[in-house]
Amino acid sequence: MNYNTLFSEIASEVETTVSPGKIADYIPELCKVNPNKFGVHLTNLNQEHFEFGDANEKFSIQSISKVLALVLAYKMEGENLWNRVGVEPSETPFNSFVQLENNNGIPRNPLINSGALVISDVLISHLKNPKKEFLAFVKSLSNNKSINYSARIAESEKSTSFRNAALINLMKSFGNIKNDVNEVMDFYFYLCSIEMTCKELSETFLFLANYGVNIFTNERVLSTSKAKRVNAIMQLCGFYDEAGDFSFKVGLPGKSGVGGGIVAIYPNNYSIVVWSPELNEKGNSKKGLKFLELFTTETETSIF
Ligand code: GLU
Repeated sequence: MNYNTLFSEIASEVETTVSPGKIADYIPELCKVNPNKFGVHLTNLNQEHFEFGDANEKFSIQSISKVLALVLAYKMEGENLWNRVGVEPSETPFNSFVQLENNNGIPRNPLINSGALVISDVLISHLKNPKKEFLAFVKSLSNNKSINYSARIAESEKSTSFRNAALINLMKSFGNIKNDVNEVMDFYFYLCSIEMTCKELSETFLFLANYGVNIFTNERVLSTSKAKRVNAIMQLCGFYDEAGDFSFKVGLPGKSGVGGGIVAIYPNNYSIVVWSPELNEKGNSKKGLKFLELFTTETETSIF
């Protein structure tokens, strides 16, 4: 099926029906993005590509990289990882404290900020040069050497990192952060600052549609069972306190970021990325959500 025409039809419907949202303004550098940007790219397991709009422009993937950090930590730590972080939906915002105190510093899941800070701590314990080795891992997934951090965005986030600093210090007090808190935060901000195009991001995530095998290199990234579990975590926890709504309307595992990107996986078929920077009050891309709802409904591609 050629999706290019459908993409442009759905994009015009989204453009006329979705009211404006708000760019994430708590990270000063993210405010500089043009709010009207809109891109979509789908890569399928036959390595066919379909796209629309600004699909080849780099944007800040933010929390979407939490999935990639989880994959690497899960590879290294195995099932022991679940002693440090849970797999339950949070029903609270991405940077919330409320459950962390009650749960003795164990985050509900790896895809909220507290969980990704613990995952960052795990990676620092395993890697000699965490930033370099994590980036090399992401490049290997995408088969693309041009992917990089944005020091400009990482440093900008660091300058307003009050909530993340509070989260990590609370977890440190419970003994769930093993390394220096500043070192962990620095690594966390860099991994959130990775920039990719819609095309690069959909290629990077394609292994999760392929039962854990990198289609470009034929290397197994995760076992089939672990790939299933990562997809399950995305299904339940990928959209903060809007994960149920995403599941209900789109019906695919996915992950959003406050840069306005969303990735969604249709197992055994495709990986799709939509980017539109204006967010709703939950921190998810307004147009991105609507686009995916219309696309999966029209194509009847859902895991349910
Ligand atoms: N770097 C962002 C933060 O820590 C990520 C949030 C997101 O994309 O959900 O606040």
